[in-house]
Amino acid sequence: MTNILTGIHYLLIDMDGVLSRGHTALPGGQDLITFVEREGIGYLLVTNNSTLPPAQFSARLANMGLTVDADHIMTSGVATAEYLRTIAEPGARINVVGEPGLVQQLESRGFVTVTDRHADYVVAGWDKTLTYEKLKQACLAIRDGAIFIGTNADKTYPLENDIIPGAGSILAALIASTDVQPRVVGKPESIMIEQCLRLLGARADETAMLGDRMDTDILGGYRAGLRTIMVLTGISTLEEVAQSEVKPDLIYQDLPALLAEWAPLRQARL
Ligand SMILES: [Mg+2]
Repeated sequence: MTNILTGIHYLLIDMDGVLSRGHTALPGGQDLITFVEREGIGYLLVTNNSTLPPAQFSARLANMGLTVDADHIMTSGVATAEYLRTIAEPGARINVVGEPGLVQQLESRGFVTVTDRHADYVVAGWDKTLTYEKLKQACLAIRDGAIFIGTNADKTYPLENDIIPGAGSILAALIASTDVQPRVVGKPESIMIEQCLRLLGARADETAMLGDRMDTDILGGYRAGLRTIMVLTGISTLEEVAQSEVKPDLIYQDLPALLAEWAPLRQARL
C-alpha cells in the first residue's frame, strides 16, 4: 500500500498549534523544518495574521529557536497583496483597514494606499488601531463601488488567557454597514492556498496542508484540493474530527510522530 506521504512534494505549514504555541516552540518544530529543507520538499509557513511582515514572523520564530527564512513565510497580508496583483491595475488606490504589515505589502507591489473613500479597492484585516473614521471611510468607499476584500475572516484571536476581536469582527462591521460580502483571502478560503501553490510552482495534488484546526487548515486544504495532515497539539481534537464531514487524510499526535513515519519513507525511496 502506498502511503499518502510518499506523494507529497510540497508542504504548507500552519504555525500556531503546529510549530509553536504562544511564545514556545513545540517538540519537532525545528526537526520538521530541517527535514523538509534536507529532502527538498518545497514549503511555506502560512498564517492568517496580516499584521506583521514575514521578516518579523521570522524574527519571532528565531526567538523560539526556530530558523525559518522570511521567504518561506506566507501571511494573509502577503497573499492579499499577491492576489491583488492578479486582479488590480498597477497604481490602483486601496483603502486599507489594517496595520503597517499589510500596508507595506501593498505599497511594495506598487499599489497606492489611501485613508479616504476615493479607492478602487477596500482591503480590511486585523487592525488593533481601528478607529470609527477608518470604518467610515472604508464603508463609504465600498458604497461608492470599491471592491471589498478581507485578509481573513477569523472572528476572534486567542491570547494565552483571553479571546479578543479578530479581522472577522472588523469585516462584520463593514458588512453590516454596506450589505456587501467581502472576498476573503485567508484560510479556509482558497485564495491564500492558491497563492502559495503559485509561488511554489506546485500542483494541489502533490501538496499537503499541515495544521491543527479543522475549520481553517483542514477545511481550507480540502477545498483547495490538497492532502491534509492534522496534528493534535493545537485547537482541534479527535472528537471534532469525528463530528466533521471533512476528515484529514492523516492525523498525528504531534510532529515527532509525523516525522517518525515520514523520514523512513524518504530513506526507502533512495
Ligand atoms: Mg494553528
